[in-house]
Amino acid sequence: MAIASDSPLGIAGLVVALEANYCRVALDQLGPGGVRNLLCTRRRRLDKSGLEVCVGDRVGLEGIDWPAARAAVAFLAPRRNRLERPSVANVARVVVVASLVDPRPDPLLLSRFLLSAEHLGAEVLLVFTKADLVPEQEQRCWCERVMAWGYHALAVSCQWPSGLEALRQRLREPGISVLCGPSGVGKSSLLNALCPGLDLRVAAVSGRLRRGRHTTRHVALYPLAGGGGMVVDSPGFNRPELPPDAAGLAQLFPELRQRLSQAGCRFVDCRHLGDPGCAAGSGWDRQEIYAHCLAELERQLADRPSPLQRGRQGSNRQRGDRIEPLLDPRWRRPSRRRQRQDLGPQLQDSGAELSPPDQAGSDQGPP
Ligand code: GDP
Ligand code: ZN
Repeated sequence: MAIASDSPLGIAGLVVALEANYCRVALDQLGPGGVRNLLCTRRRRLDKSGLEVCVGDRVGLEGIDWPAARAAVAFLAPRRNRLERPSVANVARVVVVASLVDPRPDPLLLSRFLLSAEHLGAEVLLVFTKADLVPEQEQRCWCERVMAWGYHALAVSCQWPSGLEALRQRLREPGISVLCGPSGVGKSSLLNALCPGLDLRVAAVSGRLRRGRHTTRHVALYPLAGGGGMVVDSPGFNRPELPPDAAGLAQLFPELRQRLSQAGCRFVDCRHLGDPGCAAGSGWDRQEIYAHCLAELERQLADRPSPLQRGRQGSNRQRGDRIEPLLDPRWRRPSRRRQRQDLGPQLQDSGAELSPPDQAGSDQGPP
């Protein structure tokens, strides 16, 4: 039976999950016998485009075997954006989830999630969970604080399903919403409450360290109960990398962006640290967080070898405006990251932790 399709992609659909070398594609129109989705092979990189298929992509299919519900991905529609971690295309909304307690909100860590979302250019919403465990005054205090940063915020509890209605309404708007935030804050619990029947595994926040176990493993897209939007269930990334552009960092803080747009800064190459004459001014809540992130990015930039030096590894590297000689790689001490990786299994076996409990998953600033 021929399937009519007026899509420029032919038979087309939305990638809703990646499974090993396959992806699951939800069809725009039902296939013969009411087939709703197909298991499709995906080449790691589609020819020519060099892109990898990811969840949220719209794809055109070929070689369809309807009885077996199999096909192959032939084309990838242009993307609106792509979030790197988790890898999701065409994200409309990022919901940054933080818990009011166990663990308590960490403004610096929260900001790292917010910066990734801002960098993506998606709509951002902040949700504070476990509202049943703290007084109302404290819930209000956090919501008002992040509203002053320029974000919409909601305090919710999975114990009060009725209170989730406002969040459900926001997510019902068309498009893909990604819930992100450190593990243990209640993302899986929230998804279970929003999409009944989903039944994601919820971790007990592990006893002594009060740290959520990593329970959500792969990326998948789920329709919200009641229609409208789709939500992504993804692994918790505890500490996102900062967006790489130090010069553009100020624009990723809505409250700073607003100050700068109201009064242009006097200095063309200003770092907006509130020096006299700088339009950023001082005394704003996230000023120190901004300064900290800027310093981290500038340090990363200084540590990165220039293209010329990359071709001569083992000779010199540029650090700020200094050139430092480098030891031949054979004689170098392994980096601290390398040492930690090598120690990883032993530490896990002995149950030891790499960070003290109060700092678990949080960013404590430069050494
Ligand atoms: P995830 O790692 O972000 O997916 O977090 P989980 O959904 O696995 O939740 C971590 C822990 O927090 C579990 O023990 C949940 O039962 C608990 N939890 C999640 N949401 C709430 C809530 O609204 N209220 C309370 N009291 N506990 C919650
Ligand atoms: Zn300035």
